[in-house]
Amino acid sequence: MSQTATVEPETDKPKREKTASGLAGLRLSETPRISIVVPGLNEAESLPELAKRIAETLDGKETFELIFVDDGSTDDSWKVMQSLVAADPRVRAVRLRKNFGKAMGLSAGFSRVRGEIVIMMDADLQDDPAELPKFIEKIEEGYDVVVGWKLKRLDPANRLVLTRIFNGTVRWVTGVKLHDMNCGFKAYRREVVKTIPIYGDLFRYIPVFAAWEGFRVTEVGVHHHPRKHGASRYGLERILRGFFDLISITFLTKYSKRPMHLFGAIGLLMGFTGVAINLYLTVLWFLGHKIGDRPLLLFGSILIVLGLQFFSMGFIGEYLTYLNQKRMKATDLPIREEIGSIGSGSELALESRPD
Ligand code: UDP
Ligand code: MG
Repeated sequence: MSQTATVEPETDKPKREKTASGLAGLRLSETPRISIVVPGLNEAESLPELAKRIAETLDGKETFELIFVDDGSTDDSWKVMQSLVAADPRVRAVRLRKNFGKAMGLSAGFSRVRGEIVIMMDADLQDDPAELPKFIEKIEEGYDVVVGWKLKRLDPANRLVLTRIFNGTVRWVTGVKLHDMNCGFKAYRREVVKTIPIYGDLFRYIPVFAAWEGFRVTEVGVHHHPRKHGASRYGLERILRGFFDLISITFLTKYSKRPMHLFGAIGLLMGFTGVAINLYLTVLWFLGHKIGDRPLLLFGSILIVLGLQFFSMGFIGEYLTYLNQKRMKATDLPIREEIGSIGSGSELALESRPD
């Protein structure tokens, strides 16, 4: 809508030169404490009511920004977002080039947040804005991640059963005891969304990654409302894909920092078995037996080759981890608190500044 950027200098920060392209269409305002990120695909009908109810809940109590992400909608979503932004300076909107899926929508939103507390919720009014204060309270209590737990889900029955099985498996495999990992209503301390990369469908497992990174994770019960407009953007195939993702996160959280422990172990097991088999055949050969036509010879040889391959994968994995670790910035370290004086230490202060 507005191509002319009205950039006012922030009160507490020096004016920056960066007024050109990147900030076109953005106004600078007072830094809010709460950032609410709402990804939406064709949710034009729900957005105005959502914005209104969020404002009603937080007005006068919290400073907040509401960041809508239009994930390539083909309805009037973007127009509606434009009018909501024009009507309330606390509302901002980002539009993706096409439909990339909820994960990308969330990433885009999270990259824009300024508040200390970041809350994500669905655009479809199934999550109730009146429950925002509950999430904020939990973060104030000291938790880093607060996951909504839909006490009574209002989704079709077949989905409920699958969701149960899914959540049970996730609890069992990951050890993160949450009732409703996948709830779209969650709150984070900002550090969490700046730390955890989300891609593909892995955003469903943010709490698992967060727990693994040492963040404190908890849940709060929420009411779930039936969808007012349109139908769910997902079908049952989501659960199936969820199981593949479960394998990925199990690997990522357990072994990505020490891949050799997994690949090395498998490689060693295979390699040794192969060597043992072929040694046995060698002994037989010395004793005068014919071994050329024995399937066991092939089996043993394949095991040795596979074993070596797994080992090499372990090495490559370790090397990638090493490179990654070397590039780590001071802000990436999993430090919760730090005390004691560091003198003037301006360099350190600069380095640990967010973004
Ligand atoms: N969504 C999105 N991009 C997509 C699919 C979904 O931004 O490609 C949004 C959708 O508009 C909604 C939220 O993600 O705000 C959750 O989707 P939905 O309500 O369809 O899922 P359900 O509630 O059925 O789990
Ligand atoms: Mg929904």
